[in-house]
Amino acid sequence: MKDIGQIVVEEVPNPRPEPGGLLIEVRACAICGSDVRTFLHGSAHVKPPRILGHEVAGVIKEVGPGLSGYSVGEAVTVAPAIGCGACEYCRMGATNMCPNLETIGFEFDGGFAELMAVPAQAVRQGHVNRIPQGLDFVEAALAEPLACCINGQNFLEIGLGHTVAIIGAGVIGLFHAELALLKGASTVFLIDVLPERLIYAKSLRENIVTINAQETDPVREVLTQTEGRGVDVAIVACPAGEAQNQALQMVARRGRVSLFGGLPQGKSTGYIDSNLIHYKEVGVFGAHASTALQNRLALRILAERKILPEKYITHVYPLSRILEGIHAVREGKALKVIIKPSGGES
Ligand SMILES: [Zn+2]
Ligand SMILES: [Zn+2]
Repeated sequence: MKDIGQIVVEEVPNPRPEPGGLLIEVRACAICGSDVRTFLHGSAHVKPPRILGHEVAGVIKEVGPGLSGYSVGEAVTVAPAIGCGACEYCRMGATNMCPNLETIGFEFDGGFAELMAVPAQAVRQGHVNRIPQGLDFVEAALAEPLACCINGQNFLEIGLGHTVAIIGAGVIGLFHAELALLKGASTVFLIDVLPERLIYAKSLRENIVTINAQETDPVREVLTQTEGRGVDVAIVACPAGEAQNQALQMVARRGRVSLFGGLPQGKSTGYIDSNLIHYKEVGVFGAHASTALQNRLALRILAERKILPEKYITHVYPLSRILEGIHAVREGKALKVIIKPSGGES
């Protein structure tokens, strides 16, 4: 990315692995909603020019000086959000909460390139995860967004028989739905305004009830279908402020709400009626990025086919078509768009 709204594909000098770092040949890098947001609005964490892309799977091409335990040719993913390793959050395992968090594809050059350098700090802290048997590169690139959903559900205590409402039936909403059902939720309400997304969501698993927010008031519908009680957990999986308040309206007393989707910079205030939280004793939780451990867990869930990665991958493009991919995500036409910057079999 050269600037906001400007992405070009061009030759750049090959990156070199630093001492203790790695060089990865990128075989697959998925486009994230945050890449689209950065492209359209910029990001406080991206100073252009920058190679974006943080949902990366590839092969180790070169091992940096002084590093052992990794070999050329190994298939890996890289958990992109790297903590300092020394602060209190990092030491308690909440590396995604590190005040000095630096992320591949944001502060470091990322995976929309044939080659990507992995900083020594990332390798040292276990961010390079081997791809389990049975998972190809394109599928393994889903580990990062799935890890973020695992992180987002951390505090929601979804369990046996719970009802869950999810606003936004894109990839993130669908991952949340599947995770909730895997944890034992009895019903997941998936809310969106795009009918084709809802049809797809319904086909994904049993116990998914879809609600078209264009046709009915989603709050009223959820309340009706839960006999007026509301859901145990509501997750906002779209970047809309009104959806945050709807989640608070449709959650039960003592329920939990996750504000999973971030709002654009400068547009994050003025939506929430805090009395809903106050009187209903609702727990409201945020979510940001994920840890290396959650990335490994996501890889395992995908490799064990508990969540089927092939159901999420709608487009696979070469690097030259990245803009097309970004627009497909933006328009809601695609689920996951994967860019394959370098050849090699998937
Ligand atoms: Zn992402
Ligand atoms: Zn730290």
